[in-house]
Amino acid sequence: MSQEPKEIRLTIDGQEVTAREGTSVLDAAMANDIYIPHQCHHPDLKPVGACRLCGVEIDGRMVTSCTTVVQEGLDVKTNSQKIHQARKTAMELLIADHHMDCLACAAANDCALLKDSAYLGIEPEQLQRLRPSNKGLPIDTSNPFFQFDPNKCIICGICVRTCDEIVGRGTLAFIDRGFDTVIGTFGNKSFIESTCESCGECVVRCPVGALAPKRPKFAAREVQTTCVYCGVGCGIYLGVSGDKVVDVRGDRERPTNEGSLCVKGRYGFNFINHSDRLTKPLIKQNGEFVEAEWEEALELVASKFAETKGDEFAALASAKCTNEENYLIQKFTRAVMATNTVDHCARL
Ligand code: SF4
Ligand code: SF4
Ligand code: SF4
Repeated sequence: MSQEPKEIRLTIDGQEVTAREGTSVLDAAMANDIYIPHQCHHPDLKPVGACRLCGVEIDGRMVTSCTTVVQEGLDVKTNSQKIHQARKTAMELLIADHHMDCLACAAANDCALLKDSAYLGIEPEQLQRLRPSNKGLPIDTSNPFFQFDPNKCIICGICVRTCDEIVGRGTLAFIDRGFDTVIGTFGNKSFIESTCESCGECVVRCPVGALAPKRPKFAAREVQTTCVYCGVGCGIYLGVSGDKVVDVRGDRERPTNEGSLCVKGRYGFNFINHSDRLTKPLIKQNGEFVEAEWEEALELVASKFAETKGDEFAALASAKCTNEENYLIQKFTRAVMATNTVDHCARL
């Protein structure tokens, strides 16, 4: 029988808190409403302590709180003058390497860099001193769903770790060294020519507007539902504006996918409102498709089935159907149509 993790008691900014054994100081603080700025940390990924913003003081020493695990009796200071100054310097270095065209940025109000720079009180004079950064690197717009602007990248590595740790694709890596370091695909190809499968997992985790969706997200409300594309049945929230679906995000509470989606679930929703979408059955008459009523179409199909028996018939089931519907398709094929010729689209 597995043992329950121990509860550890520690003090953060004079407040006694408890955290599960193995938790980082950063997560323990955030769980107790003590904010610590951070850019390279993401709860879904292993910590790396690269951005240096989450520094805290323990026994007079500065450590990164995302990589420090809680211990019994730790006394942590998150907001001393020394810490604040070190964070401001780390933030200035990040901003100095960032192209700040915030008004035209897809990250808009979701930008974690903007939020943490406001939190740390970066002043206008400092920004003036840092402002000229524009690496002038070309924007990669080759992917149909998202774009990559390396001028906005803060080299946090979240996209690299996401593609590696969560997606298992390993498409992205750090390229070059020192100030020239950029994120790129294997062989520095464009996204569309790379091994990227367009799942968008890196895009949803990018803290700034470097990896950003091409379509604007202006959903007025969200509807919780299930992806219809395959039998995995990932939980999704559809973003709706008027009577149109304009966005999709993964449902982190759904055990099936814990927020992750593949390219179909995340980006394949244009068919819902597409003008070419069939909403009524079509019956071919004199070589032309003509709109029909459902009853008429179903009667036609049933009469054609009745004329067919045995190996003249074959059924192809679909991943879009439920298990129960797929069960009925094979039962119907075997018991009614008298053939074992039944297969499933997943094997195509
Ligand atoms: S593209 Fe985004 S997630 Fe990737 S390293 Fe740059 S800022 Fe971080
Ligand atoms: S979209 Fe998916 S596969 Fe492509 S680089 Fe990002 S995480 Fe990797
Ligand atoms: S998001 Fe992808 S894996 Fe998940 S149910 Fe939809 S099609 Fe299947």
